[in-house]
Amino acid sequence: MKFGGTSVADLDRIRHVATLVAGEVKRGHQVAVVVSAMAGETNKLVAWTNDAANPPGGNGHGVANAREYDVVVAAGEQVTAGLLAVTLNAMGVPARSWLGWQIPMKTSSVHGAARIEGVDAAAMKKSMAAGEVAVVAGFQGVADGERISTLGRGGSDTSAVAVAAGLGAERCDIYTDVDGVYTTDPRIVPKARRLPMIAFEEMLEMASLGAKVLQTRSVEIAMLHRVPVRVLSTFTPEAGGTLLCDEEKIVEKKPVTGIAYSRDEAKITLHKIPDRPGIASAIFGPLAEAGVNVDMIVQNVSEDGTTDLTFTVTRGELKRALGAIQTHADTIRFRDITHDAAVAKVSIIGIGMRAHPGVAQTMFKTLSDKGINIQVISTSEIKVSVLIEEEYVELAVRALHTAYELDAA
Ligand code: ADP
Ligand code: ASP
Ligand code: MG
Repeated sequence: MKFGGTSVADLDRIRHVATLVAGEVKRGHQVAVVVSAMAGETNKLVAWTNDAANPPGGNGHGVANAREYDVVVAAGEQVTAGLLAVTLNAMGVPARSWLGWQIPMKTSSVHGAARIEGVDAAAMKKSMAAGEVAVVAGFQGVADGERISTLGRGGSDTSAVAVAAGLGAERCDIYTDVDGVYTTDPRIVPKARRLPMIAFEEMLEMASLGAKVLQTRSVEIAMLHRVPVRVLSTFTPEAGGTLLCDEEKIVEKKPVTGIAYSRDEAKITLHKIPDRPGIASAIFGPLAEAGVNVDMIVQNVSEDGTTDLTFTVTRGELKRALGAIQTHADTIRFRDITHDAAVAKVSIIGIGMRAHPGVAQTMFKTLSDKGINIQVISTSEIKVSVLIEEEYVELAVRALHTAYELDAA
């Protein structure tokens, strides 16, 4: 069982979570529970760390040492793991807490965005077999040199699926503040519908294209280790939830299953670059070396031997990307470079797309009818993404939701 920040936001909610855990224990199950920090805690810890790295009177560009950043931000989960264990014990349910290093949950050394390399569940299994509920601090692990690491924002989902895989659990239930995975973010589209089932591949695309309900890496691990995952509500667990499953299990394959959006986008355009072999490599090589992930790319037709090239990166990497390009200005030889961070990406996702022609056209027509300009397009077998002006993102998602007949009755 995994409980997110809203589900453990205060002691009353932690008590409610404890009753759900006790219910599973009563049904005869051995239970491991993964918890997030209380709602808002991680943001607070991140802000403190940034402030500490920027003493008054400085230039404000200070960056905390990534290992120490992890020491601070991992602390939120330690508090909830302890509090839930105490609460369970107070209810007469034997329980103990497990921090990442105690399991141990081994991760890579990319502090702030570490990848789980392995969960040694032996000690936890022993404790569980002896009748103790294992209460695991999500989001954290241990990297080389016994340093505390964290898995990137939303990482407790990944902790949960990895613990389930390590334990060989029957299933992994992700309890959150919505009663399942919806056709799109219910916070911006009230007519969004809960999906009783979603294929792993679709969930992977939804998550990586911006649906924050599950961290992308958690879906990857679930697919890889065949962990049955359910998403359900802490507050109305009886509502049904969503099961992640193999695509063969889904009978009715509509052309579009869901719509995702991301505001974490920035666009860079290089104007009048020479149209010759090797130019893309001259641009994207330095970006890769600088650790910048490039997402969408579009290049114009060449008119006078030069061309324009536009690509997108996350907003957090914009400065680094611009720096890398400027450093290599001599070899790239662009006339001008412009950038825009007021853009957003909207994506339609569905395994049914493979069998239905004209799916992308419906998207383009719908956006055009709303007067929304498409700046960049990218596609794969089961998704189409477009880059648009940020201010139209909600309008675009709602219009597409209606166009693909996803609105609730
Ligand atoms: P938790 O703290 O439990 O991990 P999150 O805030 O990380 O919860 O994720 C749940 C939120 O994800 C929901 O409140 C909802 O606004 C958002 N969300 C975005 N896209 C979707 C979607 N397609 N289906 C359900 N929720 C979504
Ligand atoms: N507390 C962490 C975060 O806010 C991890 C999580 O909630 O999944 O990102
Ligand atoms: Mg989350």
